[in-house]
Amino acid sequence: MLYTYTMQECIETLQNKINNLSIFVIPNNREYKCKLNRSMKLNIQDTFNKVLPADPLSDSTVRREVKNACFSHVQPTAPSAPSLLHVSTDMLNNLGLSEEDASSDFFKNIFSGTAILDGTAPYSMCYGGHQFGHWAGQLGDGRAINLAEVVHNDQRWALQLKGAGPTPYSRGADGFAVLRSSIREHLCSESMFHLGVPTTRSLSLMLTGDQVMRDVMYDGNSAYEPGAVVCRAAESFIRFGNFQIFASREDYDNLRVLADYTIKHFFPGITAGTKEGYVQFFKEVSNRTLKMVIDWQRVGFVHGVMNTDNMSILGLTIDYGPYGWLEGYDPKWTPNTTDRNQRRYRYGNQPTVALWNLFQLANALHPIIGEGKPLEEILEAYKADFSELFVDMMRKKLGLAIDNRGDVELIDGIVQLFALSETDMTIFFRLLSTVLKVDASANALERVHKSFYKPDELTDDIKNQWIKWFDKYIERLHDETISDVARMENMNRTNPKYVLRNYMAQLAIDAAESGDYGLIDELYTLLRNPYDDQPSQEKWFAKRPEWARHKIGSSMLSCSS
Ligand code: AMP
Ligand code: MG
Repeated sequence: MLYTYTMQECIETLQNKINNLSIFVIPNNREYKCKLNRSMKLNIQDTFNKVLPADPLSDSTVRREVKNACFSHVQPTAPSAPSLLHVSTDMLNNLGLSEEDASSDFFKNIFSGTAILDGTAPYSMCYGGHQFGHWAGQLGDGRAINLAEVVHNDQRWALQLKGAGPTPYSRGADGFAVLRSSIREHLCSESMFHLGVPTTRSLSLMLTGDQVMRDVMYDGNSAYEPGAVVCRAAESFIRFGNFQIFASREDYDNLRVLADYTIKHFFPGITAGTKEGYVQFFKEVSNRTLKMVIDWQRVGFVHGVMNTDNMSILGLTIDYGPYGWLEGYDPKWTPNTTDRNQRRYRYGNQPTVALWNLFQLANALHPIIGEGKPLEEILEAYKADFSELFVDMMRKKLGLAIDNRGDVELIDGIVQLFALSETDMTIFFRLLSTVLKVDASANALERVHKSFYKPDELTDDIKNQWIKWFDKYIERLHDETISDVARMENMNRTNPKYVLRNYMAQLAIDAAESGDYGLIDELYTLLRNPYDDQPSQEKWFAKRPEWARHKIGSSMLSCSS
């Protein structure tokens, strides 16, 4: 049931009557009325800001170097006219909230940064990072504000607003976020979860009602865009860079404190406070990071900015910026125009960059471990494990359940064929599952025909190479003991039918910028079941349209967000 209160009543009522959750601060002293939904309860159990050292300065917005501390207390900036555009029903469930809760003013106020939860102390984290291969010093949450940690069904969720205003770490930037990048983060993080890729989540997407100035392509054409706030959720938002910043300042006491906190709360099988524990911790981070990257390669996700400040210590995909999805299979492709020349973060380089980033984390942890050898061994193991896991993953994409050393040749062969003519990765692997053991190779090639962007470019020579590959592939399928149908089912659980193609997100953005938010929910719903055939949604099982090939937002993305 909803009640309407004045601000004063709101504060008094909440302080007196609601035990678990209430609004108690109105940032910026804005006057407003709020409605409370008494059923909305969050089981708040903060740890990060309770046990780790805080920046003693409490001024939210004065940009500064923050030493000897893991975070600074920050107040979100209240937006002028917040409105909820979309909420993830899955995340509502995860937090024990109802759809009625989501439609309350209370929800809107909390998750837009208008008000904060009683008994909580929002904060931004201090971290550093290597950006494009170079140490950049202190970065920190320049526009992320952690609200609280919530525990529901034994699962911990740190809730974090992105785009809710400046923090001590905002450096020269404004702390806000625009609608286009917020739609991209909200949709992509939820869709990655349903693809089975470890990721941070997104609870809600709000318009702020304020305008934000951005120069999208960094070419001097600045313009106002609608501002937005996303509420992200993850077990923790700690990054490699949180450890690096202490190591870079030779603050080994706090480095140890942070490592012990992280191990104790998020790596339950490991003993904190010992050298062996830190080594085991690093090994686990390495394993999780590798698993995440293998999943990226499997679904064709390109992160775009794999700086060490964008690497989650829990091995989650984090910070959805200029990311993109492979359409034509091209290991050299990156969506990030800022990285156009070097292509450091191109699709094919992601596993190597993850290793490079782990190497930086190893350097940061070295002072509390005291010897390099165990760390080096873990980094060496990453290389071997990667080769094995990559082949396993590709074998699954090809529907090959039985381990066979000759499969490496089949895998290499297909990657070489993809280079001859632009081939849509998602469509190709999905259609490959329809190939039958009894097929002639020419027939099999017909089955994947829809995946070629320019069928006219398929010369006789290229077709012959494909047919030779299919000869080997079909012969190999005969080693498999399961039926064609069972193989198809397996393949369709590895090879998604629907991914958030770059142009799809852009269509949702274009519509939203002209006031139509329907496509956001349509894509959200579609991408909740990316491995299922959804006959009414066949239009999204299609190659990127030509108009999107070079369109800003669809194939070219900058870090501007
Ligand atoms: P990114 O590469 O997007 O992960 O951002 C790198 C750093 O810049 C991080 O410390 C971010 O918090 C910060 N940052 C990015 N955009 C903004 C913004 N609009 N306002 C303040 N800080 C930002
Ligand atoms: Mg970042």
